Amino acid sequence: MAYVITQACIDTKDQSCIDACPVDCISADAGDRMLFIDPDACIDCAACVEPCPVDAIFAEEDLPEELAAYLEINALHFRNVGAAQERVNALLPAS
Ligand code: SF4
Ligand code: SF4
Repeated sequence: MAYVITQACIDTKDQSCIDACPVDCISADAGDRMLFIDPDACIDCAACVEPCPVDAIFAEEDLPEELAAYLEINALHFRNVGAAQERVNALLPAS
């Protein structure tokens, strides 16, 4: 299990969650429109949830069905940044 960053983060990226994470498993690369949680490093502590101003972070088991794609997208970012960026742009095209 892991926590998952979802659509509300796109083009928000205020990074409040990064400061809250005790294991430094939240990141973004240049060109990313949102941040991502590394599911292999997340310890399920929930510390990142409350600081997020747009309620973008969910426990995997509480992920709303309409945001289910972000589970794979968060993991994908840590294997293939470009592919994750393409998935994000497909779900919410840049304005
Ligand atoms: S749940 Fe805890 S370990 Fe996982 S991303 Fe959030 S703050 Fe980091
Ligand atoms: S606190 Fe929320 S909006 Fe800000 S970067 Fe983290 S997930 Fe994105």
